[in-house]
Amino acid sequence: MTGRLSQSQTTEDAYRRSYEQALKDINKPMSVVVKNWSPSRCPRCKRSFESFELCFDGYYRRAKSMERCPYCGQTLDWQEEDENNAI
Ligand SMILES: [Zn+2]
Repeated sequence: MTGRLSQSQTTEDAYRRSYEQALKDINKPMSVVVKNWSPSRCPRCKRSFESFELCFDGYYRRAKSMERCPYCGQTLDWQEEDENNAI
């Protein structure tokens, strides 16, 4: 018995699975793309965080208080870096 019902159920399952997978993915921290002399970027959507990071003479104050990308919701992992981190 593979009627219309089971077929639509399969579609629904696949939809839910991919939705859950997407949720799982954005909840799994990804390393922020941090490069000297440029604003950080989201590892998922690649958008720049320049509106969230102040720039002093080319040094960016990283928006480490952001736990998620404001654009796609990706959980962010800010790796420790030595750059300007002396204090
Ligand atoms: Zn993003």
